Amino acid sequence: SFTLAIVGRPNVGKSTLFNRLVGKKLALVDDQPGVTRDLREGQGRLGDLRFIVIDSAGLEIAEDDSLQGRMRRLTERAVDEADICLFVVDARVGVTAADEYFAEILRRRARHVIVAANKAEGRAGESGAMEAYALGLGEPLRISAEHGEGMDDLYRALMPLADQVEAERPAPIEPEFDVDLSEEDAESGEGAEDWRPSEARPLQLAVIGRPNAGKSTLINKIIGEDRLLTGPEAGITRDSISVTTEFMGTPMRIFDTAGMRKRAKVNDKLEKLSVADGLRAVRFAEVVVVLLDVAIPFEQQDLRIADYAETEGRAVVVAANKWDLEEDKPEKLKELRESFERLLPQLKGAPLVTVSAKTGKGLDRLHNAILMAHEVWNRRVSTAKLNQWLGAMTEAHPPPAPGGRRIRLRYMTQVRTRPPAFIVKATHTDKLPDSYQRYLINGLRADFDMPGTPIRLMFRDQG
Ligand code: GDP
Repeated sequence: SFTLAIVGRPNVGKSTLFNRLVGKKLALVDDQPGVTRDLREGQGRLGDLRFIVIDSAGLEIAEDDSLQGRMRRLTERAVDEADICLFVVDARVGVTAADEYFAEILRRRARHVIVAANKAEGRAGESGAMEAYALGLGEPLRISAEHGEGMDDLYRALMPLADQVEAERPAPIEPEFDVDLSEEDAESGEGAEDWRPSEARPLQLAVIGRPNAGKSTLINKIIGEDRLLTGPEAGITRDSISVTTEFMGTPMRIFDTAGMRKRAKVNDKLEKLSVADGLRAVRFAEVVVVLLDVAIPFEQQDLRIADYAETEGRAVVVAANKWDLEEDKPEKLKELRESFERLLPQLKGAPLVTVSAKTGKGLDRLHNAILMAHEVWNRRVSTAKLNQWLGAMTEAHPPPAPGGRRIRLRYMTQVRTRPPAFIVKATHTDKLPDSYQRYLINGLRADFDMPGTPIRLMFRDQG
């Protein structure tokens, strides 16, 4: 089973599609009166596929001027909760600026996207569906939610993704809602779930960084042969964008952005393309190595790249390269650590290692850091432990009581790994200050030993 979010600008037909997938009975997970719900959920089925559908359509009703911001937040939440996003555009209207806006959110955050050009019954909307190609999110399906057309195509598009989601899931999802904690027995999980990449599925790695940071040199060193082009012939086209290899015995698939960059050099657009390509590689990766040139570390571009990897929810390792050139190593290391903490607080605790791609020194440290980051990224904490922890956290530091009404954090569970994502059921969640959310996130990091990995914390209102 998987979670599907239906996303898109207002009036493209999201609700109609939701109703079609969920069926007439609208099996809402939570439909008690008085409960504010902004994301509607239902049990969807299509052929033999069973899944949870999240509908972000409800939010179209809001009419205040913060609509856009609100839509963005809710869409991001839906996208974060979903394994697969169904991005709906109106085939008759074609692609609008608002569509582009949502497409951008999906490009940044979504794991899997299917584009559906809706209202395309009969031969309607052919050109609009073509336009949707330009969103760069894959081939658009032509569907009609109203008339039930194109559902077979949707099924065929969903099926392989559903398998992939299943294969990527390291452990069964724990019951998400309304579990009576007293019934949870001790064997429900011992915290960390050890998940190792198997030979069948190599660890997906991207090495990104500014031009001349040493990416090609590093990847060459790892794969142990000069398969990437460095040096004078470096304008030659390389076709492959990834190399599958073993790094100190661990099977890895390395996404090579350096190769793409060399090609770009010919066009004299070096800086711009290299970063864009790097960013694209991040989307394929599980672990991202941000490679710095130790002579000029943490420049603007480095920070942007590292931040992007975090926003994308990837495990991050920072590697300072050309360490062989450094004279005063202890002093420099101290300096690096300080800059790291100050400039990339969102990556708190992520491994920082020093390497020399040229000599190969420090590659063992890098290897260990990659495995460690990957393990943390896959970590699962049992619901029992989380709720015990939540109780202790709220006791130590009760949430505020805006207007005399105390915010109650009632129940917490981990809904996803890669990166770890948690849902907290609470009252008055809209009043919960950011500082309290940070308190919880930092606490999770420290108490469950999850340094460095992005952590997603979501709140659900429960009246
Ligand atoms: P890329 O643009 O990130 O792929 O960088 P390259 O791998 O092409 O390296 C840029 C330059 O830095 C080349 O001249 C490399 O020889 C040099 N270089 C890369 N890594 C190291 C290192 O660890 N130590 C030293 N001294 N030079 C390095």
